[in-house]
Amino acid sequence: MIDLRSDTVTKPTAEMRQLMAEAIVGDDVYGEDPTINELESYAANLFGKEKALFMTSGTQGNIAAILTHTRPGQEVIMDDESHVFLYEGAGASAFGGIQPRALRHNRGQIPIDDLEKAIRGKDIHFPETALIWLENSHNRSGGSILPLSYVREVHELAKAYNIPVHVDGARIFNAAVGSNTSVKEYAQCADTVQFCLSKGLGAPVGSILVGNETFIAHARKKRKMLGGGLRQSGVIAAPGLHGLKTGIHRLAEDHEHAKMLAKAVEDFTPCEVIHPVETNIVLIDTKESGKSASEWLALLNEKGVLAVAFAPTIIRLTTHLDISKDDIQSVITILKKLDV
Ligand SMILES: *Cc1c(COP(=O)(O)O)cnc(C)c1O
Repeated sequence: MIDLRSDTVTKPTAEMRQLMAEAIVGDDVYGEDPTINELESYAANLFGKEKALFMTSGTQGNIAAILTHTRPGQEVIMDDESHVFLYEGAGASAFGGIQPRALRHNRGQIPIDDLEKAIRGKDIHFPETALIWLENSHNRSGGSILPLSYVREVHELAKAYNIPVHVDGARIFNAAVGSNTSVKEYAQCADTVQFCLSKGLGAPVGSILVGNETFIAHARKKRKMLGGGLRQSGVIAAPGLHGLKTGIHRLAEDHEHAKMLAKAVEDFTPCEVIHPVETNIVLIDTKESGKSASEWLALLNEKGVLAVAFAPTIIRLTTHLDISKDDIQSVITILKKLDV
């Protein structure tokens, strides 16, 4: 099977498994796991932030960030297709008691005017705006990249109102590589960033939350409350560290593969690629083929290709570390031969 469902499906490489077997470990709740400590300081340095904190998942990193930035009854401004709004089980509302203020967006960008209008004034009736949330790259927009200039504008606005900015950077490395921007430059425009080790970087487990020292100390406590205080977690940090050290530039290959797939879809099928492909995600509208997303999934599945449905007539293909150029060529050949 050529599995294009998500970049989370990668299996740890032999090298990663070797590093897991050999990882030097200790009890991380006591702060004594050397591999975790190395991963956290490497990540903090890479993002130009004071501290970093290992998280079991992106969802845990995001909720720990919300619990640390906000109090119950406050409002978080986000876009209405963000992962935190759609796909995290409303954990932020359930466990953090926050009210999401979900605004319309264009490829992950909430117009600055709308953003400013959504910031609450001091009226006694209003909730307080506690946080502005961005997602980069933007999953529901086909992995589109928030340009550094936009993120800067949001940060300037947020600073003027003294509101912190969090970036859900599950795929921030894809955004950085795809736009020739460093993650440090992106991180300079945010108070905190969450990024996944378990997506493009190919690690089996984990995410990281970066921020200043005080913030991360508080987030560490929230992580403990969420059940994320782990013991000899160096065994899962080791492949993450390897991914961070060796996996970032490789993402350009995934992007090239995604562009090849998009071109083949345009050339050989009646379907439409609905966002310019900037990173490793291709969103395909199947409407013009007269077939639904689920019919397309079945058709592809029969030929040995896995994808996911995003809407009744939209499917998503995602490229990743375990997809080779040969795999891409095979998918292109399959698309060419499909009689739709
Ligand atoms: C995958 C993802 C997450 C959550 O990460 P998990 O490790 O699956 O919990 C958060 N935000 C975005 C944009 C994602 O793509």
